[in-house]
Amino acid sequence: MSKPKNAFEVFQFLDKSNCGECGEKTCLAFAGAVFLGQKKVRRCPRLSSEILERFGDEPDATGSGETSPEDRLEKLKSEITRIDLAEAAERVGAEYSGNKLTLKILGKNFSVDAKGNLTTEIHINPWVAVPFLSYILFGQGLPVAGNWVPYRELRGGRDGYPLFQKRCDEPMKRVADLYTQLFDDIVHVFGGKKVDKQFESNISVVLHPLPKVPVMICYWLPEDGLDSSLHVFFDEIADRNLDIGSVFSLGTGLAQMFTKIALRHGFDARA
Ligand code: SF4
Repeated sequence: MSKPKNAFEVFQFLDKSNCGECGEKTCLAFAGAVFLGQKKVRRCPRLSSEILERFGDEPDATGSGETSPEDRLEKLKSEITRIDLAEAAERVGAEYSGNKLTLKILGKNFSVDAKGNLTTEIHINPWVAVPFLSYILFGQGLPVAGNWVPYRELRGGRDGYPLFQKRCDEPMKRVADLYTQLFDDIVHVFGGKKVDKQFESNISVVLHPLPKVPVMICYWLPEDGLDSSLHVFFDEIADRNLDIGSVFSLGTGLAQMFTKIALRHGFDARA
């Protein structure tokens, strides 16, 4: 059979035990990841060979047949037309009025209507639009736990951690080293907040790319001949409010955005 037309088409065949063996915290998140082409259906060990055959061989997020962010965005928009947006707004802590679901991304309004149309006060990039829609469709809307963990400790994050460091921590560190105003921008332009220094860092800021998926950036200045360092942390429940591919996208998207901002101010932090 061809690829699933929507996440429900996959979900209906899952055993709904939320056992986590596929690397996702819930069967719903797994169904979403299969639908988006980020996971192969065979990653669920509880499916019969008949069902596996039925879905054929979808591309894996890490394989060469990766679905483009633009394709994923279109798929998610079509999926939005199938859900009750008012119910979704309640689940994920968004506002619902005028047939639109609205929530804050980096302090700015970002909305979707029942036809999947997006409206926003910021530029619509797939790196932010895909996680936004995925959060609405598949997130559990759990309250933030308050325990910060690196990407590798999120479910499904271990394998992709070296790439996450390369595309998120390292470029952000280069920006922070050159463009010292970065952390003030995070606070003033993106609605971030300086917090008590964590893990003995010199600067710690928290920002909210999605309401229940906060991100903490910690920066250590050079000291005693040691180079500076920067690490990005997520709340430990991030992997239940958002699929791991979207968490990756948020981290790497933020790094790209900060690199562009620094460049605009005359600081070239590109590798
Ligand atoms: S492996 Fe994943 S999809 Fe399969 S039953 Fe467990 S949580 Fe659900």
